[in-house]
Amino acid sequence: MVSAEPMELMELMGADRLYARAIEAEPILPGYVWNARTHNYHYLRNMQFVSRPHILRLLDNQLNDLQRQAIAVLADVQIGQISPATGLAALNLSLKREVLTNAALAAGGWDRLTPTDFGRCGGILRAQYRRATDCINGLADGTVSPAQAANRVNMYFGRGREMFYEMERERLGPAPKGKYWAERRLLEPTAENCPDCIYYAAQGWRPAGELPVPGAASQCNGNCRCELQRKAIDADDYAKMLAGEM
Ligand SMILES: [Zn+2]
Repeated sequence: MVSAEPMELMELMGADRLYARAIEAEPILPGYVWNARTHNYHYLRNMQFVSRPHILRLLDNQLNDLQRQAIAVLADVQIGQISPATGLAALNLSLKREVLTNAALAAGGWDRLTPTDFGRCGGILRAQYRRATDCINGLADGTVSPAQAANRVNMYFGRGREMFYEMERERLGPAPKGKYWAERRLLEPTAENCPDCIYYAAQGWRPAGELPVPGAASQCNGNCRCELQRKAIDADDYAKMLAGEM
């Protein structure tokens, strides 16, 4: 299945080669521009902004693709088609891509990632590489079942998605004058939602920062496909929200 989306993701991040350039600062490519004031991407050709749901969809499609590929790698290791070392190298490269892509999009492009951001990605990746090593070795020697391995690997990838929401929230500036940020959790209708996510979604709109980001503090962990929505509301609505009337 060929889609134009991976290319669009890369253009949004201002990167033409995800793997090779992942650790370098890259200028935003012509075609897209990040507006640091409004925290939106704009198409340069018409200056229309690229909606956040659109970016979230691109990221989720990438995550789904990488997870599918990772499961195929696990199957190849299990039947001995490839060595555990080769499988691990493929998984690690995909994990790097997932984590760095999410970081770059949360930050507004590669050139906006700070050394601290890269350090954070590196910390996450080191932990996920270690887990992936244990998982692949377990699969190869039969101590981890294919189903367990698939579930674990899905979670390793999901950590990138969780980090996107963390970084995006951290970079959120103050709400427009006289307004307050509110957030809510939305369940993915086609997903098997865990009890924790169902509980968070049932809270409705809450002051920004109160609800855990998708993937955090939930049983579904890296398999979470919930969305975190955000909007600026006025003082009246804020009072209603605190009273649970929103
Ligand atoms: Zn969830």
